[in-house]
Amino acid sequence: MKKITALIMITIIILCSCSISGGEKKAVADFFSMDTYMSVTAYGDEAQSAVDAAKKRIEELDSLLNAEDKNSEIFRLNSDGKAVLSEDSFELVTLALKYSSHTDGAFNPALHPLSELWGFIDKKYRVPDKKEITDALKLSDTENIILNKKNKTVKLLKSGMEIDLGGIAKGYAAAEAARVMSGYNISGAIINLGGNVRTLGKKPDGSLWNVAIKNPVGDGYLANVKTTDKAVVTSGGYERYFEKNGRTYHHILNPDNGYPADSGLKSVTIISDNDTLADALSTALFVMGEKKAERFYKKSKLGFDFILLTDDDRLICSKGAADILSSDYEINVIE
Ligand code: ADP
Ligand code: MG
Repeated sequence: MKKITALIMITIIILCSCSISGGEKKAVADFFSMDTYMSVTAYGDEAQSAVDAAKKRIEELDSLLNAEDKNSEIFRLNSDGKAVLSEDSFELVTLALKYSSHTDGAFNPALHPLSELWGFIDKKYRVPDKKEITDALKLSDTENIILNKKNKTVKLLKSGMEIDLGGIAKGYAAAEAARVMSGYNISGAIINLGGNVRTLGKKPDGSLWNVAIKNPVGDGYLANVKTTDKAVVTSGGYERYFEKNGRTYHHILNPDNGYPADSGLKSVTIISDNDTLADALSTALFVMGEKKAERFYKKSKLGFDFILLTDDDRLICSKGAADILSSDYEINVIE
């Protein structure tokens, strides 16, 4: 009996992710949600409660927003062509359409039929023929998504249209996780939702957080960004892709032609106070490519900084990003 109690005690100690670091309590939750690995870390007296609350909120959002989950609101919207949505889902569809219009359609939340066609949903990858792509593209016109703010209803005007919030949901979830956590007594936190990073407060030693941006090539890092209270979100074609006949096809699609975006970029990182914006823009700027992205940055009033890695390995970033990053690459700054 004693042995069993001891075993249970040991298991509990291992499962409890709470520890002391730099004189502060530390709590960590590593889990899988929104089809990616996530890690939430907090420091302070209420670190464990903060981390638990963040995880709960993220899982709640996943169950509403995941187009592949038969019980989600977005799945219901896609299968019925109309739905009354919760505050969260309605807000995120609204934001997705707003950023779609700001980016001149480079961000498009209606590409689900195309992602399905390429096999990115069921992971039965294939290269579709031109006619299939043209047909799927006809279902991607965001003008055919009708919102009614008062009733929180969304209507898809064309049969077969399907919404996909995969390019923005993790940003929204990171913002919500940060909001929930800031209601607890913590000194700092770092939230990493599969490349959507959000920092809160400071590290236990009082210094800024160091966010390492993965190099799309090899195992190293592209750059290190020192931040606090910011979102640092990276998109690239290197995480989800398949190869066919010596060619690589990745999951970020160009809404203009229905093919994986081939804009001359390996990765895009967006730094912003706004996680949801950062997530949408990391996808959109990847679609735009270097020149369009620079033009967009110069005229946009959305409030963000960017770091681009081009196919020919040039690191290009806005002034605000250059001020807080370190990298082994030569840094080309856009004012
Ligand atoms: P990840 O989700 O891999 O971190 P992104 O934030 O760039 O990367 O989102 C990519 C996802 O967004 C795709 O898996 C797909 O669901 C969706 N998507 C693909 N192309 C676009 C696009 N042009 N605009 C908006 N969403 C897109
Ligand atoms: Mg994105």
